[in-house]
Amino acid sequence: MVKTRIAPSPTGYPHVGTAYIGIFSYVWARKNGGRFIVRIEDTDQNRYVEGAEEGILRALKWLGLDYDEGPDVGGPNGPYRQSERLELYRRHAQELLDKGLAYRAFETPEELAAIREELQRKGLGYGYDGRARKIPRAEAEARAAAGEPHVIRLKTPESGSVMVHDELRGAIEFSSREIPDVVLLKSDGYPTYHLAVVVDDHLMEVTDVIRGEDWLVSTPIQKLLYQAFGWDEPKWYHLPLLRAPGGAKLSKRTGHTSIDYYREEGFLPEALVNYLSTMGFSMPDEREIFSLEEMIAAFSWDRVSLGGPVFDEEKLRWMNGKYVREVLNLEEVCDRLKPFLQSAGLEWGTDEYLCQVVTVMRPRFETLKEFVEKARYFFDENYPFAPKAERELRKGAETLRELKELLAGLPDFAPERTEEAITAFAAARDLKLRKVMQPLRAAITGSLATPGMYELLEILGKERVMKRLERAFAHLRELEGDQ
Ligand code: GLU
Repeated sequence: MVKTRIAPSPTGYPHVGTAYIGIFSYVWARKNGGRFIVRIEDTDQNRYVEGAEEGILRALKWLGLDYDEGPDVGGPNGPYRQSERLELYRRHAQELLDKGLAYRAFETPEELAAIREELQRKGLGYGYDGRARKIPRAEAEARAAAGEPHVIRLKTPESGSVMVHDELRGAIEFSSREIPDVVLLKSDGYPTYHLAVVVDDHLMEVTDVIRGEDWLVSTPIQKLLYQAFGWDEPKWYHLPLLRAPGGAKLSKRTGHTSIDYYREEGFLPEALVNYLSTMGFSMPDEREIFSLEEMIAAFSWDRVSLGGPVFDEEKLRWMNGKYVREVLNLEEVCDRLKPFLQSAGLEWGTDEYLCQVVTVMRPRFETLKEFVEKARYFFDENYPFAPKAERELRKGAETLRELKELLAGLPDFAPERTEEAITAFAAARDLKLRKVMQPLRAAITGSLATPGMYELLEILGKERVMKRLERAFAHLRELEGDQ
């Protein structure tokens, strides 16, 4: 059975890179009827951030990347949090010591720094020269038993090379000279990433490791560990890293990388997943809008390209707009907007009213938050007047007063009726329609960017429009009082 996993470290906010790798891992597991696991790699005490794990799991759920095994859902090979598996790592480090494939090293941090410096002077890049290998086993055991602080290191080959087979790139050769005797168990008894990741991937029966290209260099070390334990290695797939427009690695400095940011800004999880799926993958018919289910159906690794995919927030915004207009149905869009209206303190009254507003606004917003900004006046009688709108109000005050009388006389605001009346009103005064519309628009919305006037009048309704006109005149009087 194919088993994939993501192994995020809880070191900060949930990162779009985690979602990106998560999507490919999820899709590959689902494609094969396999299982997708989430494991929390929290053994680096210095980088641990309280609450980060919850944030990551919440983000995965929001995106719809359901995992079959994980810290909060359990599973047959738990626990799924590395800090709860320390005994396992110790036991496995001990196993390698017993096999003579690992050794204890007692250098102090100062000694290690001196060794590193010496190696650098000699032009050797790696940080440790394996000198503690020479300590006789009995002596090392005695020192350890006496409580001397130490680490356990892997004995890596001194010559030759390690061949890694990456499913996307083929064979890659790493010279053994470039592979240091990495630490497996730190002096505080915590494992390093290499030991923990290999022990866990093996015990959790992970068959396919899908991760970012930045982990490629650690693969030969992990391969050596699999060999040392006598285990079969998984298949390795290293996906290209996300780039910012311009080509730099996507990071805090080059773009927004937090999944929470996209949720809070009113991006739809479906759109974010769709967009991240296009990072390296393309559908056989090249269409850009597709669901996770469709990706699973069409997925194959030959459709994944290794050129650095560019994550462009503007493009994502465009895609989100497509989802708002074309993919989700009207009711769904309305439902998704409700929490955003609520957190802006706006009340929408009935669902029918909200959906009427959304219908006319739909071509005019891309994110849910943008809707709230642009459509505020539909839900707020105390809408503010933009400076440009105030200018129109002033210029058109006389016309607006006459227009108000006309509107007051109409039995209702059916679009055909208001259109006929307003057109005739403008013609009788030899005014361009715009000269009538702009002050009216300014008065009843405080803005000049609105949907079509007749729809607007119909949705707001006569009673509300008349009150808004009163309010606009009061506002004008205040403005004139200020002069
Ligand atoms: N804990 C590593 C990370 O934060 C996992 C790397 C891997 O997938 O092996 O990405």
